Amino acid sequence: MAKEAPVNCIFCKIIKGEIPCQKIYENGTTFAFLDISPINKGHTLVVPKHHCEDIMSAPEKELQDLIVVTKKLSVLIMEAVSADGINIGINNKPAAGQVVMHTHAHIIPRFSNDGLKHWPKIDISNEEMVLIQQKIVSLL
Ligand code: AMP
Ligand code: ZN
Repeated sequence: MAKEAPVNCIFCKIIKGEIPCQKIYENGTTFAFLDISPINKGHTLVVPKHHCEDIMSAPEKELQDLIVVTKKLSVLIMEAVSADGINIGINNKPAAGQVVMHTHAHIIPRFSNDGLKHWPKIDISNEEMVLIQQKIVSLL
């Protein structure tokens, strides 16, 4: 059985209209609004209406709807803010930077000269790469 939404979930409150937002879009399963603290102009959050913490616990149908809406809005947002590119990101769990524990995709418009840096890379041996690949595949 699905877990009940926590009463204090800020995104559930936004979806219900209990907290204001700059709404962009909604359909039967999905809701989108501007991020209150944007990385770039047009930064938008796309969320399933049904509360779930992260993509690992989200029902597949809701994730399918989420990505379709994310694609649709990405096209419009790029045009609206004249972006040169788009990053789409989903932070899952606090260690990965998730602060609001209601699944959400970030649509972050990018501009050729925006100065944002990409993540650094790690050094890793080929042997370790093979072990990681084998471990993941063994869990399929
Ligand atoms: P994350 O770190 O992936 O959990 O991102 C949460 C995002 O939610 C952050 O980018 C916040 O700026 C954004 N956020 C938090 N509260 C609100 C709010 N009331 N309205 C719009 N965006 C919000
Ligand atoms: Zn919620």
